[in-house]
This record gives sequence, C-alpha cells and structure tokens, in this order.
Amino acid sequence: MYDVIVVGARCAGSPVGMLLARQGHRVLVVDRSSFPSDAVSTHYIHQAGLLKLREWGLLDEIVAAKTPELKKMHYSYRGIHLNGFAAPVDGLDAVYAPRRRVLDEILVNAARRAGAEVLESFTVTDVVAVEGQVVGIRGREGDGPEREFRATVVVGADGFHSTVAKKVGAELYNVRPAAGFIYYSYYSGLDWGLHHKAGLNEQWFGTWPTNDDLSMLAVICSRAQLKEFRQDVENRFHAVFDDVDPDMGAQLRATNPAACSPTSRPASSTRA
Ligand SMILES: Cc1cc2nc3c(=O)[nH]c(=O)nc-3n(C[C@H](O)[C@H](O)[C@H](O)COP(=O)(O)OP(=O)(O)OC[C@H]3O[C@@H](n4cnc5c(N)ncnc54)[C@H](O)[C@@H]3O)c2cc1C
Repeated sequence: MYDVIVVGARCAGSPVGMLLARQGHRVLVVDRSSFPSDAVSTHYIHQAGLLKLREWGLLDEIVAAKTPELKKMHYSYRGIHLNGFAAPVDGLDAVYAPRRRVLDEILVNAARRAGAEVLESFTVTDVVAVEGQVVGIRGREGDGPEREFRATVVVGADGFHSTVAKKVGAELYNVRPAAGFIYYSYYSGLDWGLHHKAGLNEQWFGTWPTNDDLSMLAVICSRAQLKEFRQDVENRFHAVFDDVDPDMGAQLRATNPAACSPTSRPASSTRA
C-alpha cells in the first residue's frame, strides 16, 4: 500500500514523485517507457522551469550533461527582427534545451534518489475503484501477468491520451482542433544558435542547440499544408527554411541530418 501512485514518469510525474518522497510519503511512480528514452517534444525549457530545476538541485545535472548554454536568441516575425536575450531571472542568465532522454532520466533518477519506487516498462490498463473511489492501478510489465497496486491517492501524469483521465472520466476543457503540425529532426554541423522565425506563408521554424553537439530543427505549418507536406517530407522541410530565411535554407541543404527520424504531430491541440 502506497500513499501515492503516480502514473507517468516524465516532466510531470517524476517531480511529483520526487517532491512527495522528499516529504516522507511512500510513493510508487510507474511508466510504460524505460529510461533514458526520447519523447515527442521539442526541448526548450523556459526560465521558470529552469528555476524549478535549480530549486530542486537538478540544474547542475543538466549542465553536467553538456547541454549547451544559450545566451542569445534570434526572433523574427514577418520581417521584424529581435536579437538578444531575456533579462536574467534570479541570477539565471541562460536557457537550456536538453534532449528529453537527458532531462527525463535526470528527473526519474531524482525521484528514485528521493526514495520513490520507480517501475519502468509498466503499462497501466485501468484504475482500481471501490465504491466510486480510486484506490489503485492495474497493469502489466510487457507480456507479464497483471499486477495491482493500491494507494491513497493516484495521480495521472500520463500525458496525451491519458489512460487515467479516461478511466476516471476526467472532464475535458479548452479543447481546440489542431491549427498546425510540426516536424522536427536533429542535425550535426550547424552552429546557428537559437532561432524562432515566422514567415509570411503560415510557416515557421525553430532551431535549438542540444546535447551531443546536435541542433534540433523544427518546422510548423498550418494544417491545410499537411497533405502536401507528407508527400515529400524532406524537401518540404527544407522549403520552409528557404521560404522564411533563404540564407539559412541554403546552409541547411549543405548539411546532413543526424541519424534520427523526423517526427510529426499536431502542434496546437490543447487537452487537460
Ligand atoms: C511537438 C511538441 C513540442 C513541444 N515542445 C516543447 C518545448 O520546447 N518546451 C516545453 O516546455 N514543452 C514542450 N512541449 C510540451 C511538453 O512536451 C509537455 O508539456 C510535456 O512532455 C508534458 O509532460 P508530462 O510528464 O505531462 O507528459 P509526457 O511527457 O507525455 O509523459 C507521459 C508519460 O506517461 C507515460 N504513460 C502514458 N500512458 C501510460 C500508461 N497507460 N501506463 C504507464 N505509463 C504511461 C508515457 O510513457 C510517458 O512517459 C511540446 C510538446 C509537443 C507535442
């Protein structure tokens, strides 16, 4: 019997587990993934998030993982250019964009160090309820036998398409259809720094230096462009850079993507 079971062990779940365990609660965190592993997400951590990592004693681990320190940003919106950096917050004068396999592993390890039990590769299939009250979870590791764990509180931190939210019939609010889509990939050999650039044709790109001397490059386009984009992903990806910043587009064509596949998903759906 646990005080708290947390389903999902990434940005939301592991810190919840860590903070509760640090307060002396008996905590189980489960995730169907194993760590380290990537998640579908770009990597920019806003200053408020970095302040939390620092407060928890984890920012040094992000830095120690050779995550590039970013102190300059290049924004442009339809020909208006802004180059500089946000004012430091509480002495924090840089931002970071760690790969999720780096960030999430640091968070999972911190939860473990705090005393939480973390069960990886465990898929929750249902909540256990008694008289309408959730008292635990049910699930299995891989093809293993079904197991059940009980707790006073069950936290659903299982992200998009949350099983916990579905099983308890959580209310959906502020739901909007996706307005656009995103593709991203990793490139070596680019020394661009951090860019957010929007063009005139409902196209946008971003670049973030990340771990392993790679840059993450992402493009976002309006949903109406998805069908055409899918027919020739690599060329359409490059075409967004050509359209928004022709010089960067030319540089990109001379660069090889690192050995990672592009990823796509709707960019602006909101679910809570
Ligand atoms: C394309 C894209 C780009 C983004 N870019 C940024 C960005 O640059 N900066 C930023 O701050 N945010 C960004 N976000 C948002 C960010 O990714 C999410 O806010 C964040 O991942 C949410 O964390 P989470 O822990 O709630 O969920 P997730 O990261 O989705 O983690 C949920 C975990 O739950 C586990 N899980 C799910 N179902 C089960 C189950 N049934 N049983 C057991 N485990 C389960 C999954 O394996 C997963 O590990 C982006 C999102 C997207 C989609």
